[in-house]
Amino acid sequence: MGGRVLSVASECVPLVKTGGLADVVGALPAALGAVGWDMRVLIPAYRDLAAQAKSWPVVFEEPDLWGGKGRVLAGEVAGVSLLLLDAPHLYDREGGPYSSNKGEHPDNAIRFAALSWVAARIAREGLVAREGLAGWKPDVLHAHDWQAGFAPAYLAYHGNGGVKSVLTIHNIAFQGWAPAQMLGVLRLPGHAFHSEALEYFGGISSLKAGLVTADRITTVSPSYAAELMRPEFGMGLQGVIAARGAVVTGILNGVDTGVWDPGAEDPPFGARAVAGKAVARARLFEEFALEVPGPLAIVVSRLTDQKGIDLLPAVVPDLVAGGGGLIVLGSGDPAMEGAMRALAARFPGRVAVKIGYDEALSHRLFAGADAVLVPSRFEPCGLTQMYGLRYGTLPVVSLVGGLADTVIGVSPATLATNAANGVTFHPVDAMALRQALAKLLDLYRQPKLWAKVRANAMTHPVGWETSAAAYAGLYDGLIA
Ligand code: ADP
Repeated sequence: MGGRVLSVASECVPLVKTGGLADVVGALPAALGAVGWDMRVLIPAYRDLAAQAKSWPVVFEEPDLWGGKGRVLAGEVAGVSLLLLDAPHLYDREGGPYSSNKGEHPDNAIRFAALSWVAARIAREGLVAREGLAGWKPDVLHAHDWQAGFAPAYLAYHGNGGVKSVLTIHNIAFQGWAPAQMLGVLRLPGHAFHSEALEYFGGISSLKAGLVTADRITTVSPSYAAELMRPEFGMGLQGVIAARGAVVTGILNGVDTGVWDPGAEDPPFGARAVAGKAVARARLFEEFALEVPGPLAIVVSRLTDQKGIDLLPAVVPDLVAGGGGLIVLGSGDPAMEGAMRALAARFPGRVAVKIGYDEALSHRLFAGADAVLVPSRFEPCGLTQMYGLRYGTLPVVSLVGGLADTVIGVSPATLATNAANGVTFHPVDAMALRQALAKLLDLYRQPKLWAKVRANAMTHPVGWETSAAAYAGLYDGLIA
């Protein structure tokens, strides 16, 4: 069928990224374009973006955007049709999208309410007629995470102009809280301030507002969709999500197979010609002064409790004793950064650590390593296990969320059916992770089996095609 979608978010690659959300928002337009959906992405014009978009045409105006005017500028970057909300009083700031070196911006509730407000108005009214965009009006508004959570609510409470709404939860940990006194300021109706609608622990949560008002709710894997209805994962919103269970679906993210392409690495390799991987591995040994007889594992991650990084100090000694090695690339919790440095100091030649964010290095790591460890306590979808699959860098993952939906752990049955593509473990504790690493070491000692599992991994589909078809089906169902 097909139609038009306005996608609303706070981040979009390649312009602004702090996490996996940006990758998804940036990848969906091309993937959906291929199946007949014209998607435009509305994000705030943060300082650098406003400078880039100076000459772009104005396609929408909002005179009253919480203390200043807002203008929407239309343009295209890296094939993505963008709508940038230019409102200097809200977005022309030092630092990242949410914070500066002084901490979180104190007016984040308003900053993202403004984004949601303009999104709802564009959805309801359409863009101002312009060359090429003449009266562009979406059939569906697709809001992402708490930053866009008020957009479906504004449609619900201020009129939707026939537009349907979808809210996608990328990470339930961030819920966008504001005190109850802000209800009027946020342009939300007093009659909806009760526990079945906007009220959340005495205040207002923009994510909850979206959850109770959107026509459909999605999250980024089927397992996470089911987990979110349970108290261990729902972070207070499990009841709200369970109550809307009939409209909740999980659609697994894909990865950008143009960016994550072993055939484009130096040297190139692929499922049928893996020789290049050994060269990349040898180069890593040189770069990090390592000498690892067994499997070389990597971690590329935010160093946080969510990611289970605190489990590593207890298991790395066993990995090393079994002949393995580890390179950690990441940053985050200072205590975890320190623990990673301590591991590298304790196991010179076997463990190396690079604190920081480095995309180029992450490519070299996936190309050259044998395994990627993802011991997350919760993982809505997860991207690094999919990079691992594509690069034949076997994922060793906890059985939660999207990890459980993408990695099929080795077992006699999965080996016999050529399904095994990694190693899985549960529960998320050091003992289970240690056993998983023992399995990995054991597999590595059987080169034929290892090659088979690696081939299964490299041929496992991780592109956007399947997800795009699922989103298109969801939109089609909404407007039918
Ligand atoms: P999350 O969004 O929870 O951090 P995901 O696995 O969904 O986790 O996405 C994380 C993204 O950020 C991946 O693309 C990963 O490769 C990348 N990434 C995380 N830390 C680093 C780092 N230190 N250097 C380079 N890339 C990183």
